[in-house]
Amino acid sequence: MTLGEQSDVTASELAERRARMVQEIEADVRDTYFYTGRKALDERVMAALAKVPRHEFVPPDMRGQAYRNAPLPIGHGQTISQPYIVALMTDMLRLQPEDIVLEVGTGCGYQTAILAELARQVFSIEIVENLGLRARELVERLGYTNVEASIGDGYHGWEAHAPFDAIIVTAAATIVPPPLIEQLKSGGRMAIPVGREFGTQTLLLLEKDQQGQISEQEILPVAFVPLTGGH
Ligand code: SAH
Repeated sequence: MTLGEQSDVTASELAERRARMVQEIEADVRDTYFYTGRKALDERVMAALAKVPRHEFVPPDMRGQAYRNAPLPIGHGQTISQPYIVALMTDMLRLQPEDIVLEVGTGCGYQTAILAELARQVFSIEIVENLGLRARELVERLGYTNVEASIGDGYHGWEAHAPFDAIIVTAAATIVPPPLIEQLKSGGRMAIPVGREFGTQTLLLLEKDQQGQISEQEILPVAFVPLTGGH
């Protein structure tokens, strides 16, 4: 299947491709058990991956590859994350239906849609205006009414809607931005890749307990685009 043929692809064929993608994610999860300590991910997360139309989020000439378990370029030097990574990070957030989530790095909006399937409200910030506006339009067109997307530097979080039950950062920071720690609720979870641009990056799970203490767990070595901005 190549480019531009997507219009000929039936809904059931797309669903089948997603089901195969989910199987590949499950295999990756088993293969990375040594790092993550996870043999399987939350089935609600996997159901969201099986549902969200990833082909809508990739550029038209990439549609034929939309259900490969791989990152893809989305323009502006940015990428849509690998589905396995999207699944793992979402799992790390342990989302409940009542949760309010902050996402830093909307990109094409794919991860945003996955979050919107599982949480009450998603606030997402993107620094590249073009991407952010496109993503906002797309998630709206796909019928997600629980997403608010804005343009800005997500390093500073989104004070007006804080605190958040969960925070996900989809670009690598050199340190965990202090405003994000601040804006995490007691009992909240944060998934964030930390490290240098071309050096080692580690996907971290930060949790804030009821006393406001932060604990940190290294989950997986990763490769993300850098968190940019003026901070
Ligand atoms: N969440 C996306 C992945 C996007 S890649 C997905 O579903 O696949 C990371 C995104 O973070 C890029 O779009 C990049 O422009 C954005 N980004 C980088 N630095 C940022 C910052 N300081 N604030 C907000 N977004 C940022």
